[in-house]
Amino acid sequence: MRRSRAFVPTTKEAPSDATLPSHKFLLRGGFINSQGAGLYNFMPLGKIVLEKIRAIVKEELDLAGSQEVQLSFVTPIGLWERSGRSETMGKEMLRIKDRHASEFVLSPTNEEAMVEMVKNRVTSYKDLPLNLYQINTKFRDEARPRYGLMRGREFLMKDGYSFHSSVEDMIREFDLMEATYKKIFTRLGLDFRVVAADSGAIGGEGSKEFHVLANSGEDTLVVCEACDYGANIETIYESEEEIDALKAKSYEEIQELSIEKRCSCGSELHFKKGIEVGHIFQLGTKYSSALEAHFNDENGRAKPFEMATFGIGVSRLVAAVIEQNHDEEGCVWTKSTAPYMLNILVSNIKDDAQNSLGEELYNRLKGAGIEVTIDDRKERFGFKMKDAELIGFPYTVIVGKELENGIVEIFDRKTKENTPVNADEVYEKITELLK
Ligand code: ATP
Ligand code: MG
Repeated sequence: MRRSRAFVPTTKEAPSDATLPSHKFLLRGGFINSQGAGLYNFMPLGKIVLEKIRAIVKEELDLAGSQEVQLSFVTPIGLWERSGRSETMGKEMLRIKDRHASEFVLSPTNEEAMVEMVKNRVTSYKDLPLNLYQINTKFRDEARPRYGLMRGREFLMKDGYSFHSSVEDMIREFDLMEATYKKIFTRLGLDFRVVAADSGAIGGEGSKEFHVLANSGEDTLVVCEACDYGANIETIYESEEEIDALKAKSYEEIQELSIEKRCSCGSELHFKKGIEVGHIFQLGTKYSSALEAHFNDENGRAKPFEMATFGIGVSRLVAAVIEQNHDEEGCVWTKSTAPYMLNILVSNIKDDAQNSLGEELYNRLKGAGIEVTIDDRKERFGFKMKDAELIGFPYTVIVGKELENGIVEIFDRKTKENTPVNADEVYEKITELLK
């Protein structure tokens, strides 16, 4: 990316409703822009990050044997009437009418559509198990869309659905997906917890959430520091008032609270705040029964599929990475999510030596397949440096005044350290660093 030609509209200020770091920095860094309440456009840098996350999700799911499909985003209301959810989903489900006055829904989730697709096409136990997923737009008319990509109305979700001939096999797949999700969030460079969860409106038993630990998280969790036990407070507190009171407390406030109960491993439990980035449910036969989706077992008896469902908030993850990785100056992308690994900052493009080294380095690194940008704008050094910090490239090579002495600098965004390097060794140093 040549910065002088790129569409990366960074700004000094964020709108006043952007209170969370991710919301602020993604807007200011020119990653996204707001199109209306809970509606966002992804500009070039935002789109690269989103696609990187999507690619990791897809790679791990494909490896685990799940198959990608794509369902239509607009679904006929009849589908939701048959499952009973046209009643229970309430106002979150946005309904629209076409020119014939037929009613449709912008998909908030896709259990029904997926069951309908598989129904009558998979008819024998021999064709099971089956795990299908999509990474597609969802629409939920959230009561309070806020915090930028964290809680949008239109957002990108990976939703997966599996079909089985027995409960045991469904649980085996549930465990496989738990392991796969852990791989995904680890590859994204996130500090996360798997916690026992409430199954909410989707129904069924056995439900786990994946939370990125961050002070700004909307969920309150109880976690053990010694073992990997964790639970959403919604599952372990009985009274609604108690849950709401705990949820309303800030990270600082809940840190002060002690928990009387101990973990089954004997250690102390603590409160944490989390951002829900994934949710897996054991559905059982809730939807297959309601929609009469059957297969024939070994004895030729018709039975409803045993099902599980698996979600990941793909666009929410863009924000979650930044909630966990930022500082006062802006974004600090992880290696697997950075829009570009390296930025070459030519301090004064009118200086021939600086300019030609910058250009040479840029072309050579690009040729070697490295994700590199060059800031070749006619701007002041300080301005370009601030921009690089706001956007959060993991490394910036500063080609500046010191080049007179044969020296350039490598700036590490995370540690903010500047390392002087001989100009004729910088290519090797960079390729070593990015290995
Ligand atoms: P939440 O409790 O945060 O409202 P949910 O339980 O309604 O989420 P699921 O139905 O489990 O969400 O959806 C799967 C995943 O989609 C969630 O784990 C979350 O990461 C993501 N997600 C849900 N709602 C939104 C939203 N409004 N904006 C962005 N991502 C969302
Ligand atoms: Mg959920």
